[in-house]
Amino acid sequence: MSENIRDRVCLVTGASRGIGKAVALSLARHGGIVYGTATTADGADKISSAFESENLNGRGRVLDVRDQNSIVELIDAINKEFEAPLILVNNAGITRDSLLVRMKDDEWTDLIEVNLTSMFRTAKAVLRGMMKARFGRIVNISSVIGAIGNPGQSNYAATKAGIVGFTKSLAKEAAPRGITVNAIAPGFIMTDMTSVLTERQRSEILEHIPLNRLGEPEDIAQAVMFLVGGSGDYITGQTLHVNGGMYLS
Ligand code: NAP
Repeated sequence: MSENIRDRVCLVTGASRGIGKAVALSLARHGGIVYGTATTADGADKISSAFESENLNGRGRVLDVRDQNSIVELIDAINKEFEAPLILVNNAGITRDSLLVRMKDDEWTDLIEVNLTSMFRTAKAVLRGMMKARFGRIVNISSVIGAIGNPGQSNYAATKAGIVGFTKSLAKEAAPRGITVNAIAPGFIMTDMTSVLTERQRSEILEHIPLNRLGEPEDIAQAVMFLVGGSGDYITGQTLHVNGGMYLS
């Protein structure tokens, strides 16, 4: 069990399923006091149940990262219930795939809002508490697509590349206060987001993955534990690529 995580308040956005769920459960198994968020009350209840079924110290809360007020209210509520979150995993994210010539304005702006502006909002909301504690761990979930691009995903790739620049700058700002800020860029991970792939697309993708499998959400959770647990204490401003070898930075 990591000293960095044990009894520390952790916040994971988008924890109802996929990568966020695996990260939230993993933090709780490492002794964290975990808040996982979903966009609906039903989703939040399911997160709470997942923690309860393993007797873990975690709970689900409703959060829409597009809503600045709901972020501030959630952080205030967490502060009142326990103390300031010192571990933040910015995981919530969406895709709205379209070739650029057909891309609608809202398919662009929604992506910027949910995938990128959310990082600014949540990080800003937790930073004061981290600075006071002179300790903090922030992990932003980017994507291999931000590094290599993909037809039909110019909006998604722009947000995921933007996360990398944001991460580097905030890492430099926050380092003097004992706060590390890193990004993880997953490859293709088996979640609802990739369940839309056809068999043909899946086998084409596999041809480019030397380890010859899609990733599991747990593969990303392990990388988060590495960065926020003691092993990652001297790492900041980095992007850790977890992709089975499909892209080598
Ligand atoms: P997923 O299974 O589709 O889950 C997305 C999560 O984000 C859900 O918990 C969802 O909540 C939440 N979310 C969506 N819109 C939100 C909003 N406006 N406010 C707050 N939460 C919101 O996705 P995933 O595959 O686990 O992906 C998680 C992250 O990893 C994303 O940032 C994604 O871009 C990134 N990623 C995924 C892959 C992959 O292959 N799967 C690869 C690279 C990067 P609800 O359940 O309430 O909708």
